[in-house]
Amino acid sequence: MALELKEILLVFENIESAISENKQFLTDLDAAIGDGDHGINLNKGFKALGVKLKAALPKDWGEIFKIAGMAIVSNVGGASGPLYGTAFMKAAPLGIGKVEMNLKDFGNILNASINGIKQRGNAEKGDKTMLDAIMPAYDEIIKAIESNSSSLEALKSALNAAEAGTQYTKTIAARKGRASYLGDRSIGYQDPGATSSSIMLRAVYETVKALEGK
Ligand code: ADP
Ligand code: MG
Repeated sequence: MALELKEILLVFENIESAISENKQFLTDLDAAIGDGDHGINLNKGFKALGVKLKAALPKDWGEIFKIAGMAIVSNVGGASGPLYGTAFMKAAPLGIGKVEMNLKDFGNILNASINGIKQRGNAEKGDKTMLDAIMPAYDEIIKAIESNSSSLEALKSALNAAEAGTQYTKTIAARKGRASYLGDRSIGYQDPGATSSSIMLRAVYETVKALEGK
């Protein structure tokens, strides 16, 4: 994988579409254990981001991620706005001066995002949050880099791990965010943030797959 800037912009467009298609689903998940705004929040943020990216002429992917972080922070409400916004912002410095993104870059992006989310939200793996999808995905990218797997195989493994992590959130009680007010009553429900992270990772995988013509 060596995505060029216009391909990275396509990934963002496809994330926007995927979030829009899943707006109701994410909102329903959040209605069960939160306040029912997750899909609405994210859809609004990614729409605003799409408009910003269309108007921008980014010279490197650092700029794309910076625009993404700022658009998400200022347009997504709730807890997920600052958390996803931080995730994109923390990845931005990695892309300064870079017009291509390879698998290693993608691993570094996930790592910076995870650290940003942890710092901002004070959460860990197993707290029933977006980290339960993103952290297993990151581990798979690292394994794939170590074993010289193809980018597509790596992204597929990462997606599978994120989706498994999202399913796992059904079995645990929330320790962070609104769902934590429910305590053990949050068991049995899938975390909306882990779900939206999986949806984003699916969009990354599907875009790279389509670009590679497979
Ligand atoms: P709110 O809960 O403020 O309405 P959203 O509904 O947009 O915000 O997002 C809820 C999601 O945010 C949760 O499903 C969870 O994945 C994530 N989340 C909440 N608090 C934290 C936290 N402290 N750290 C990481 N993720 C969190
Ligand atoms: Mg909510």
